[in-house]
Amino acid sequence: MLFKPTIWIKNVLCIDRDFLTEHGIDALILDLDNTLSLHGAPAAEQGIPEWLDKMRELGVPMMVVSNNTAKRVAPLAAKLGLDYTANGAKPLTPGINRALKKLGTDRKRTAVVGDQIFTDVLGGNLAGMPTILVEPFMLEKNVFFRMKRKAENLVFRRENR
Ligand SMILES: [Mg+2]
Repeated sequence: MLFKPTIWIKNVLCIDRDFLTEHGIDALILDLDNTLSLHGAPAAEQGIPEWLDKMRELGVPMMVVSNNTAKRVAPLAAKLGLDYTANGAKPLTPGINRALKKLGTDRKRTAVVGDQIFTDVLGGNLAGMPTILVEPFMLEKNVFFRMKRKAENLVFRRENR
């Protein structure tokens, strides 16, 4: 089933040494928007840089393959110390295959990680690689939390008047 991820997790922070061992994964091809950062955000989400460092300590080769432009991908990838392929055209496989060749890792042991079934999962499956679907980091959720915080602050102030 080409639309079905091999593994479905909440976010990349769930990937640790035991996870990789259990699923026989040595290397990661990572989506950028909504997988490592909010869509278009100039910085990664909380915990991502530290997680990347942990993966590097474990010796996990990683590369970003994004459908977004180099203008978007290059600055954040550089900040995170990751090599990248922009204009990846997922679910087409050339971008993914180019990254795999660069990594020089085993196709069956290199996972394609992303938040979208029709690009990341489909692309990885078409390339014959294991796929990991993550829940997208949603801007809406952050806006909601900000509103909630504001509401809480209003109540808090009122109570303290
Ligand atoms: Mg994405």
